[in-house]
Amino acid sequence: MDDKTKTLTAAEAGYHVSDYLISAKIPDENLFAIVSLYKGSCAALRFSDILMLSALDRLRTDSPVFQRFVKLGFIVNFDERAALEAMARGACAFPSKVSLTICPTMGCNFDCPYCFENHKSGKMSPSVQDDIAALAERMLDVSGTKILHVTWFGGEPLLVPDVIESLSDRLITLAEKKSAAYSADIITNGYLLDRKIADMLDRVKVDHYQITLDGIGAAHDTTRHLAGGGPTFERITGNLRSVKIRGHINIRHNVHSGNMAEIKKLRALIAEIAKESGNDLEYYPTPVRDSLTAEKRGKQVDLLCGSAELDVELIRKIGDLSPARGHYCGANNLWNIGIDDQGRLNKCWEDSDKPEHSFGTAAKWNPGDPLNTADHPDLLTVYLNTSGALDDPECRKCVWLPFCCGGCPHQRLFRKRECLSFKADPEAFALKAYEARKTSHQ
Ligand code: SF4
Ligand code: SF4
Repeated sequence: MDDKTKTLTAAEAGYHVSDYLISAKIPDENLFAIVSLYKGSCAALRFSDILMLSALDRLRTDSPVFQRFVKLGFIVNFDERAALEAMARGACAFPSKVSLTICPTMGCNFDCPYCFENHKSGKMSPSVQDDIAALAERMLDVSGTKILHVTWFGGEPLLVPDVIESLSDRLITLAEKKSAAYSADIITNGYLLDRKIADMLDRVKVDHYQITLDGIGAAHDTTRHLAGGGPTFERITGNLRSVKIRGHINIRHNVHSGNMAEIKKLRALIAEIAKESGNDLEYYPTPVRDSLTAEKRGKQVDLLCGSAELDVELIRKIGDLSPARGHYCGANNLWNIGIDDQGRLNKCWEDSDKPEHSFGTAAKWNPGDPLNTADHPDLLTVYLNTSGALDDPECRKCVWLPFCCGGCPHQRLFRKRECLSFKADPEAFALKAYEARKTSHQ
């Protein structure tokens, strides 16, 4: 950099304030929390800094404050929306890994009123397992990636541990043959997670668990009961206390207006069980979402709304603040595939039990020729094309676009655009982000 360049102002050097900043005055402090939703950064600025930010004409490129603003992404020298669009286009095909969500059964031993699935009994056959192993090999070969990840889902996957074990063995062997890294996680209700099953899951490299508790005792049993009735709380928490589970366990709390009061107590209970058992448990609350299936079943719980939803959603989402990546979820990417117990392929977890949303089969689909080998190419391309919400005029002008990427593609396609519940309250988000960063640096 020569002396002439050094003395340019930020504006002369082509910098402008990011389009994706939100801010809030920090109560009782003479500071403002500023968040870049594009860069995923957050900092507290004095009023004098804010003035400099709004007066780039005078800000010199060789000043420390300029360097700080650039590092935080508060000022940029490029078109952020064009960058988001480019990332969104690339995201639908980028092969960072092959990720398979496998449902070895669609049956479930629970009957939760808010569930988005209609459970059917059934078990994946050996020939469907053959098809999945062959599909995984084609996907690794065509993508060229060296990472194979599996999520065990259902139904309740632990109803058929023998399928998990046999198919895992085949996929682990395949990964070794291809010199690919293999990892796995599982979404389970935790009812059948005894010592024998936990040891098997550890052997087949499952190292992340998601288990749901909806409160303490009866508060949990009201929504998460056995099919046909019967409590489950004592059995699940008994497993968490007594079984050595090797891996990280996220305890999800599906919050609705009937169990919102349980948040504090449940968080404390999880901390106590973690301490007592040595298991690696982490609590997180998330609002229950409306779904067509639950609506049709007529047993939907009372959803959160207004400030209650905003509070719970903020706690859940604050951890998502990170550099923009241009798409919302795996459904937007060609290399993320869901597979039901019959070997039907889908793009989204909510489509797992909906054959009418399946785009093809594990037996036939080939990512090397993804449209000609799909039985319903449209059901594949609609998800790939919702990446980044490029066609939605509302999203294109929205400050949340880098963070939200247009929301859940499934909701967008089959219901309506699902905006962030705190869309109209950026100050609340900025303050929470500031508090979270402060705590993590303490
Ligand atoms: S599209 Fe929505 S519902 Fe489907 S997997 Fe993605 S986030 Fe989940
Ligand atoms: S879905 Fe809503 S909150 Fe998200 S970017 Fe689009 S308009 Fe904004």
